[in-house]
Amino acid sequence: METPGNLFVVAAPSGAGKSSLVKALLELDSHLRVSVSHTTRAPRGQEQNGREYHFVDRPAFDAMVAANEFFEWAEVHGNRYGTSRIGIEARLMAGEDVVLEIDWQGALQIKQLFPYAVLIFILPPSWQELEQRLRRRGEDGEDVIAVRMQNAREEVAQARHFDYVIINGLFETALFDLKTVVHSQRLKYAAQRRVKSTVFHALDLA
Ligand code: GDP
Ligand code: ADP
Ligand code: 5GP
Repeated sequence: METPGNLFVVAAPSGAGKSSLVKALLELDSHLRVSVSHTTRAPRGQEQNGREYHFVDRPAFDAMVAANEFFEWAEVHGNRYGTSRIGIEARLMAGEDVVLEIDWQGALQIKQLFPYAVLIFILPPSWQELEQRLRRRGEDGEDVIAVRMQNAREEVAQARHFDYVIINGLFETALFDLKTVVHSQRLKYAAQRRVKSTVFHALDLA
């Protein structure tokens, strides 16, 4: 399904800095919207329902699965996460650019549905730094951190299936890289023809 809006999918092991990078990108770029996922995970300290996630219990989540309300969903670190159809489809059709912050399993499902989706994988500079960031964030207990570090090895191995890889060592460098990927997508022929249709017509480019 080809839509006027660009679709960006960002995945990373927990703690690599995906949410921080996407948040900073959204502050710089008013044409981007992030999709708010549904999850069965409990909210963290500052998280608000409808802002970081739509927090739902397992029966409500499973009812949405049964009703085919998700583009994709996956089980990650023992909880379920999904991208609902509502919202992203309408936005893409309206020509808005949408970012999904989802795990690699969801990213590969989205690529099947939207082959033009741009898949971006965020890597930490090292295992040691990843663990330090999970601890410094101070949102998860030791048991949760242990599960996330264990799962990180399998997740990182999936980076090869992605279109772009960004190493989040120095934050500002990684943010620049992310902006560059988004910007280059908007310079592609089909995107330019849509957005700069007046120029294209003036130059007799159909
Ligand atoms: P974080 O990775 O530390 O930010 O922890 P979260 O609990 O926010 O996310 C856990 C995992 O679920 C991450 O890999 C997310 O990318 C993934 N995730 C979040 N939302 C979705 C979604 O809608 N679909 C899928 N498939 N994965 C999601
Ligand atoms: P994710 O969404 O991938 O789980 P977060 O964005 O929550 O990761 O980042 C994890 C922690 O690492 C946060 O405390 C964040 O402030 C910090 N962090 C993110 N990027 C960097 C970076 N480049 N250098 C140092 N710390 C970072
Ligand atoms: P956290 O619980 O730390 O917020 O997120 C854990 C993981 O779940 C992250 O890697 C995050 O990207 C992923 N995730 C969040 N929302 C979704 C979603 O809607 N779909 C999928 N597949 N993964 C998600």
